[in-house]
Amino acid sequence: RAAVRLLCGGPRGACARSGLKAWCVPCLVSLDTLQELCRKEKLTCKSIGITKRNLNNYEVEYLCDYKVVKDMEYYLVKWKGWPDSTNTWEPLKNLKCPLLLQQFSNDKHSYLSQVKKGKTMIPKNNVKKALQPAVAEYIVKKAKQRIALKRWQDDLNRRKNHKGMIFVENTVDLEGPPSDFYYVNAYKPAPGISLDNEATFGCSCTDCFLEKCCPAEAGVVMAYNKNQQIRIQPGTPVYECNSRCRCGPDCPNRIVQKGTQYSLCIFRTSNGCGWGVKTLVKIKKMSFVMEYVGEVITSEEAERRGQLYDNRGITYLFDLDYESDEFTVDAARYGNVSHFVNHSCDPNLQVFNVFIDNLDTRLPRIALFSTRTIKAGEELTFDYQMKGSGELSSDSVDPSPAKKRVRTECKCGAVTCRGYLN
Ligand SMILES: [Zn+2]
Ligand SMILES: [Zn+2]
Ligand SMILES: [Zn+2]
Ligand SMILES: [Zn+2]
Repeated sequence: RAAVRLLCGGPRGACARSGLKAWCVPCLVSLDTLQELCRKEKLTCKSIGITKRNLNNYEVEYLCDYKVVKDMEYYLVKWKGWPDSTNTWEPLKNLKCPLLLQQFSNDKHSYLSQVKKGKTMIPKNNVKKALQPAVAEYIVKKAKQRIALKRWQDDLNRRKNHKGMIFVENTVDLEGPPSDFYYVNAYKPAPGISLDNEATFGCSCTDCFLEKCCPAEAGVVMAYNKNQQIRIQPGTPVYECNSRCRCGPDCPNRIVQKGTQYSLCIFRTSNGCGWGVKTLVKIKKMSFVMEYVGEVITSEEAERRGQLYDNRGITYLFDLDYESDEFTVDAARYGNVSHFVNHSCDPNLQVFNVFIDNLDTRLPRIALFSTRTIKAGEELTFDYQMKGSGELSSDSVDPSPAKKRVRTECKCGAVTCRGYLN
């Protein structure tokens, strides 16, 4: 049949193949329907799971259930690119998916170990002919979660514009990707707020480290040493070289603008702190780790949102109080990996105000630097109260009573824990 172009406008992503005929499907059409349409038209679309491999052949996506019939072991198979209604029981000997069999077994054991406490064990000689429905249900939920998290991980990595990779991991519960979070690489200014100011000054150094460079022009010292580490006190602003400077990308005064260099992992914490972020590689002390981004809104709007948000939402509001208190960054719905970084009263990240192309002192960029060496696998944290200024804000100084109304208990576990997040 003639080539067909399949257009889907929804967030499911688009399958496209140049051709003669355009074929439209409604937004938010279900994945099953999209797959069926692709299959009917013999179109492959990697992002919805229809590949050359499974267009004509059957590929196991995951295993849903298990039973023994006449001494033969069977698994209920979910086929990749096919709806649940087409699942079939297949004898073990036909299955060539050792990793999925292992996954099935692991999930079964993790479920059983969770419910084991307080329950009588099934005698060993009682040969099990089938799984309990609750076990199979859990295994399917876990398989679906794994797929959803992988899709989210792929999506985050497609959107991010920095070097470091973003991984997603949940070995703790059945929580899937957040439903109301949109990844952005930079500030998203609210209507009426302008951020696209071009730099008004650029240096003409041949060596920005030795000459009177951008920081000197702003009346501060160069923020970095030769090892790309921050060497100034918290509270002191960072002035990086910008698009007007004559220096190239290798200038030692261009760090935050290059983005996150480390591979990080958004993971489910086991101590009830929801999602957290850990580094997958060692981070040297005083190194740039990530920027804090989100919607830039006026402080009046932040006040209004603060009253609507629950305690958790409030913790995403970050006042840009470097020199004025006109603006706030709201990372509740729009943000990058920093959205998932938890608070600690003894953090390993420290906040700095950074100016690059936008030299408007009311609108600094917020960069998180390591305060010490951070080992691979360690959770990253910053102090939610040590925002902008680098000084601990107290209730008497803080001008925003609305954000202080609900107090959130801190679970950071530090010896020096203050007990509350806000
Ligand atoms: Zn310079
Ligand atoms: Zn430079
Ligand atoms: Zn410069
Ligand atoms: Zn604490």
